[in-house]
Order: sequence, then structure tokens, then C-alpha cells
Amino acid sequence: MRGAVIYGARDIRFEERDDPKIIEPTDAIIRLSATCVCGSDLWPYRGIEPVQGPAPMGHEYVGIVEEVGRDVREIKPGQFVIGSFFASDNTCEICQAGYQSSCIHRELMGTIGTQAELARVPLADGTLVATPDLPPADLIPGFLAASDVLGTGWFGAVAAEVGPGKTVAVVGDGAVGLLAVLAARHLGAERIIAMSRHVPRQKLALEFGATDIVEERGGEGVGRIKELTSGLGAHSVIEAVGTQESMMQAIRSTRPGGHVGYVGVAHGVELPGEEIFFSHVHLHGGPAPVRRFLPELVDLIWKREIDPGKVFDLPLPLDQVAEGYRAMDERRAIKALLWP
Ligand SMILES: [Zn+2]
Repeated sequence: MRGAVIYGARDIRFEERDDPKIIEPTDAIIRLSATCVCGSDLWPYRGIEPVQGPAPMGHEYVGIVEEVGRDVREIKPGQFVIGSFFASDNTCEICQAGYQSSCIHRELMGTIGTQAELARVPLADGTLVATPDLPPADLIPGFLAASDVLGTGWFGAVAAEVGPGKTVAVVGDGAVGLLAVLAARHLGAERIIAMSRHVPRQKLALEFGATDIVEERGGEGVGRIKELTSGLGAHSVIEAVGTQESMMQAIRSTRPGGHVGYVGVAHGVELPGEEIFFSHVHLHGGPAPVRRFLPELVDLIWKREIDPGKVFDLPLPLDQVAEGYRAMDERRAIKALLWP
């Protein structure tokens, strides 16, 4: 089969790789129907995260099950399935508590590399969720979004305790931030402030349910959120970037007693203890337990109640994966969809 491999910063190649095989009896092999480039793939691509290349890339996936190991009971060949970036057993105490991305048996799909024609999925019964039937082609991008960015934005909103009557601010206008807006709308937020200075992304945020746009960043951005909330700050703030500036912008935009849901992968973030102490802000986040939300998200997409596939604005054949990285790096695309 063929797949994407990173050799170093800004060096993504599409090349021949070994076909995946069943290794553990709980594995499944899937043929990818679609895959994509994640904002978090840009950290190694930009050289901010060290690369020990050559290494396979990609952790978002939907596809058709080709083969299952002898201990797989629920997942069957021929099913269309969605999984998340951590494989998980979905049975341990941590999974049962809803934190499948910290499963005691978790395996990172990024080391397997799903920007490829085929992929091995560990712990198939715990990891994968099947659709009721084979989906129509136009729903595939939505299901692919559920694999990571929708589930991550959703967790951000849940961690920020979004709910009816609340004012929500979203820091970050990448796919996760935009889908956090969609999640906040679905969870009943009264007012949703999207922080973005990029017109096409503002437009999509409004389509997903944002009620206000704030273009300012940093201290000025915080000031605008305070102006819009009678000087108090938002009840719920979703942080979807992962830098020092974005994290502090999120914390300072939150009212005392409010909640920050942080889902941007933190890079070099250091929190000032004294300021946090006196802020009275709840902080919760981390790598999203997407698997917790998948059954509900799959159902909402299947019934066409949400359309998260709109975040994909650059469809490409999989062999042009390197162009997908370039376009996202240069912010020419919100998110590249790759068709094998
Ligand atoms: Zn587990």
C-alpha cells in the first residue's frame, strides 16, 4: 500500500509502505474511505515538535473493515467504521469514566499512520464505532470530522461546561475551534463569541452558530470579551490553539467561577500560579476522549442534524498529501481532506 511518511520538517513524502497485518487478536484492518491532515500534524511539520523520521503520519480515519482478529466480537468485515486518535479498550476504569484517551491500554494511532490506503486499528471492539449501514458519500467528510476535530471541539465545550443560558467564547479558528462553536450551539449556549480575524473562518463560525465575532487577540481580545459580558467575562471558554498567548487569553476571558476547556495541544505553556489562584477559573482539558462522544456524534451526523464536514475546504487525492500540509501551514486551507 501507499501512505504519507515524514522525513523531517516540511518533508512529507507519499510512498510505498508495508501492508498492515493483524498483530494482536483484537486488531482490525480497515481500508480508508477518507483521511485528512490535522492542525496538530503541523507541529512536527513545522519542526516545533522533533521528528524522528522517516515516520508514518496521520491519526484521523474512517473506512471499511477488511479483516478482524480472532478475538474481535462486535466489529465485522464490511462495516463502515469511525475511530479516534487513541485506540482504547473502552472497558477499563478510566474508559468507563469517559476518559478513553487515557485508557490503560491506549495506543496512539499517529504512530500507525492513517494517511494511507490501509490501517491497523488496535482494540477494534473498544476503538471503533460502526454506522447503521454504509453511508452515502456526502456524509463521509462529517464522519471523518468526528474522528478527531469534532470530538475534540465537543470535549472542549463539555469541559468548559457549556449549556443553556451561557455565554461561550472560543479561542482559535482552526477546525477544532470552529467545531467547538457547533458543539456549543448544539449544547444550547445562548451566546457564542468566535475569536477570529480570518473572514472565511468567521463566515463558517457564523454558519455553525456563532453570534458574535471578536477579531482582537491577547489583552485587546480579553478586553472585547469583557465589554460584551458586562465586564464579567464569559461563563465558558474553549481554548483550541495551545500556545501561551491563547491559553492566557482563554483564562483571562473567563469570569470567576467560569470554566476553560482546553484542547489545543499545549506547546511551551506555563501557567502563573498566583494569577490562576485568584482567578477562580476552573481548568479542564487535555487530549479529548473522542470515543466517549462518538456514538452520539455518529447518530447526529447520520440523521443530518449536524454537518461538521463543512470544515474540509480542500479535497485532494491522497497522493497529494504534501500539498495538504503546505496549504494548512500557509493557512490557505482550514482542513485538507484526502481521498485514497
Ligand atoms: Zn481503557
